[in-house]
Amino acid sequence: YGDPSQKIDYVFKLVLIGDSGVGKSQILSRYARNEFSLDSKATIGVEFQTRTLVIDHKSVKAQIWDTAGQERYRAVTSAYYRGAVGAMLVYDVTRRQTFDHIPRWLEELRNNADKNIVIILVGNKSDLEDQRAISMEDAKEFAEKEGLFFLETSALNAVNVESAFSTVLTEIFNFVN
Ligand code: GDP
Ligand code: MG
Repeated sequence: YGDPSQKIDYVFKLVLIGDSGVGKSQILSRYARNEFSLDSKATIGVEFQTRTLVIDHKSVKAQIWDTAGQERYRAVTSAYYRGAVGAMLVYDVTRRQTFDHIPRWLEELRNNADKNIVIILVGNKSDLEDQRAISMEDAKEFAEKEGLFFLETSALNAVNVESAFSTVLTEIFNFVN
């Protein structure tokens, strides 16, 4: 995952938001370290993780921030959003409530973040198909209406995690170039 001696052309700050338990920390751990844990404890300590990738022959360092268990409504401070150029808005496809709260998170994002922030809606835990509570069509329709990218992911099975991040990072890259 990146040669530490290489020169960095861009650093993009991304933020992960969404209700507690939707899998934000595991999505990040899958992306930054290719690790997954089924009994992950509420996030403590580490504020962000990074991964460096190459887009169009430029090296881009993604600095990805994870909420430290502050998912209660309005508990995430404006400092968290400061400087963010991308956001991953995560719900759990097996828990309706986490999808119903997405408009709140979106509002909070729009009130605190840059107006050009690139947002992807992510329905995580797609591996739990038999427990699905939100159809892909409903989520897609919502995303289209709000002008968001959309993907379903499984941090457990490493499905679409790479794509979700690269969608956001490529869009940001194209915007600044
Ligand atoms: P956070 O509170 O949003 O950071 O959620 P966590 O990353 O701590 O995950 C909450 C729980 O969901 C943990 O038990 C994870 O192992 C589990 N989890 C996360 N991602 C997935 C996934 O893609 N599939 C399944 N089946 N479980 C997941
Ligand atoms: Mg967490």
